Amino acid sequence: MASVPIGELVRLDGVALGYDGEVALRDVNVRISPGELIGIVGPSGCGKTTLLRSLLGETEVYAGDASVADNTKVGYVPQVETVDWNFPITVEQVAMLGSWRTRRWLPWTSRDERSRARVVLSQLGIADLADRPIRALSGGQQQRTFLARALIRSPDLLLLDEPTSGVDIKTRHEILHQLAALNHAGVTVVLTTHDLNGVASHLPRLIALGEQTVLADGPPEEVLQPPILERAYGQPMLVVQSGHETYVLPVPEEAPGAHEEPLVPPHVVNVIGRPDADDA
Ligand code: ADP
Ligand code: MG
Repeated sequence: MASVPIGELVRLDGVALGYDGEVALRDVNVRISPGELIGIVGPSGCGKTTLLRSLLGETEVYAGDASVADNTKVGYVPQVETVDWNFPITVEQVAMLGSWRTRRWLPWTSRDERSRARVVLSQLGIADLADRPIRALSGGQQQRTFLARALIRSPDLLLLDEPTSGVDIKTRHEILHQLAALNHAGVTVVLTTHDLNGVASHLPRLIALGEQTVLADGPPEEVLQPPILERAYGQPMLVVQSGHETYVLPVPEEAPGAHEEPLVPPHVVNVIGRPDADDA
């Protein structure tokens, strides 16, 4: 591995990555500075997880230089769908798994580790769930449990795979808020998301993947552009700007006869707008 210059955390130069000799991403040129908050976007199977895992050294590198600065502590929060939720383990035990990589292996946990786990669980608002088996958690609680496992090592670089998938809007907001707070405290955060409107458009930097490479890298107003999105998703996309909010919508295919019949009959629209209209 080549070394990373001072002031840089990650450097991927002309990298080709994949598994079992098969390239999943090529020509990847990405640099990450300490303190950044970055979202990786793109359709299913485009290589979002692969790019994250490359930063853990868990993919094969076929070309170029892929390096993470020496002594970087990396925390990883897997996609909840990949976890076996029937495994008989409690929230606190999952959190403490995070410290196992950093210490000599011992078959018991120390008092320090337990108190550290309690601190992290409290910070995430799930201290009361410490003894609960993970199979009895909601989506948001699952996310926070694995976030605790990553945070227990006080990572410099926090990688999260789809941290808001499978959670409701309120929980999504809370998770993003927590990640923003960690980022403010100095943690570099890289997450993947397929939620362009609820998540990606609110992040300062996006990396869009498609066609097995990086299609765009920059602030959302540069990356969430119809030509880039069409290349990434293989279908036309509409980008609507409303104040500070950006909305990305797939352009609906015109249904046969769409011009003759309005999609929603006008009286239904009226009822939605004025629920008491009929009583008046
Ligand atoms: P995304 O996270 O964007 O959905 P992935 O990074 O999971 O995409 O997948 C990118 C490509 O790499 C896909 O073609 C997928 O089939 C392949 N891939 C992912 N994980 C593995 C693996 N463990 N072994 C072999 N191929 C994999
Ligand atoms: Mg993935």
